[in-house]
Amino acid sequence: MKRFILLSLFLLVGQLSAVPYQSSKVEDVYICTGPKSKCYHKTNHCQGLDRCSKEVIKVTKAYAISKDRTPCKWCYPKKKK
Ligand SMILES: [Zn+2]
Repeated sequence: MKRFILLSLFLLVGQLSAVPYQSSKVEDVYICTGPKSKCYHKTNHCQGLDRCSKEVIKVTKAYAISKDRTPCKWCYPKKKK
């Protein structure tokens, strides 16, 4: 019986700790690979991507930022400071 309780606790702790690590950090965004594009987008059907001359690809947000991409003004409307 004691072993069963320990096992349950172990599973419970495992589930609790797994949640925050999985979802929060990795966020996918869309970028246009054309030379003129400087933004990243939340969706691949954004009007900012309509003029894309090349491909629209899905990357992580961290990758987009590392390529000096800035948030698209349509996908990420500015909030009040
Ligand atoms: Zn956009």
